Amino acid sequence: MGDNGTEKQSVNDHTEEKNVLESTQTIIKQALDKLGYQEEVFQLLKEPVRMMTVRIPVRMDDGSVKIFTGYRAQHNDAVGPTKGGVRFHPEVSETEVKALSIWMSLKAGIVDLPYGGGKGGIVCDPREMSFLEVERLSRGYVRSISQIVGPTKDIPAPDVLTNSQIMAWMMDEYSRMREFDSSGFITGKPLVLGGSHGRESATAKGVTICIREAAKKKGISMEGARVAIQGFGNAGSFLAKFMFDEGAKVVAVSDVYGALYDPEGLDIDYLLDRRDSFGTVTNLFSDTLTNEELLEVDCDILVPAAIENQITENNADKVQASIIVEAANGPTTIGATKKLHNRGVLLIPDVLASAGGVTVSYFEWVQNNQGYYWGEEEVAEKLEKLICAAFDNVYRVANMRNTDMRLAAYMVGVRRMAEASRFRGWI
Ligand code: GLU
Repeated sequence: MGDNGTEKQSVNDHTEEKNVLESTQTIIKQALDKLGYQEEVFQLLKEPVRMMTVRIPVRMDDGSVKIFTGYRAQHNDAVGPTKGGVRFHPEVSETEVKALSIWMSLKAGIVDLPYGGGKGGIVCDPREMSFLEVERLSRGYVRSISQIVGPTKDIPAPDVLTNSQIMAWMMDEYSRMREFDSSGFITGKPLVLGGSHGRESATAKGVTICIREAAKKKGISMEGARVAIQGFGNAGSFLAKFMFDEGAKVVAVSDVYGALYDPEGLDIDYLLDRRDSFGTVTNLFSDTLTNEELLEVDCDILVPAAIENQITENNADKVQASIIVEAANGPTTIGATKKLHNRGVLLIPDVLASAGGVTVSYFEWVQNNQGYYWGEEEVAEKLEKLICAAFDNVYRVANMRNTDMRLAAYMVGVRRMAEASRFRGWI
């Protein structure tokens, strides 16, 4: 299962999804203006510095050859090598990959990791392909992008519908091409191949830390807090478990087909047990809500952990939660963010809330480079420290500059790239 959210599920029309890059650029511009940077900085940061499109021929099991399209975007490498996941999905597009690479730069900046942002994607549906076809596609992708990636250039990782097995094939392919073992080429690997403890649950751990910190600010106790989670993929399912363990009541969860809701709290262990590898669980039940309805249920904390553009200007006023923590990338539109902020809803943006994954990926890369591995507790402690510091910093900037948390997070993220680019003499 993928790193961010569950299967992509769309409840909105495609025009809004196309605007993901534009809305990111709009907030980058606002952040740079607020920080007083010149137009050149925006011109540099509004698009990736490098974008590669590849065509990958794959021999299918029936003997035919299918040509797949793949992308790798490298947003900004002023701070260090670029880093970010590879998603396998039929709706992957050049625009989406570009926007996602910018988000990775922001995440790295907010947590202060020594990276710029990168992102990759292949237009495909791995759910319709055999294991061997997915392996050939993964290896073909690495061969196609090998010139621009590497442990000190650009380090891929899992994302939507990619997993540790796919990372292992990619690492093996890269190592064979280079003729030395390159575990630091990719993160999110299986433990036995140099993966890190805590990587699989890292995104959800980061979200959990943000929920805890946000609840403190709002004076809400985690014990008995009512949490609704949209998405039951990698992030959503681990998060449901962590919330349950924290004493919160998970009142709603959803997958691509619908949502389950119980004001008394759902039995998360039972649902995790029944969930398939794509995060599907609601098809076992008849009494379900839609994904739109989940966003409007009575709860304290709402966590969109699926896909983009779920909370829009049309439904923002119907959201009852006083805290929204974005575990997915881009689930709330600019207009909705404004409406929620004006109503006093505390929204923790994706670029902060979902930064746990890349943070533990960074730990994995450090461990690979030094060849010395940390225990589970050490990873958890380090993650807690970095995400808490990032949360406090963004919260402080939001208060000081009188902005919502999203703009504050962007300000923190872009400033580091702008400064590094200036020191290098680029702008
Ligand atoms: N795909 C994840 C993200 O969007 C993780 C990236 C990484 O680990 O490098 O943050």
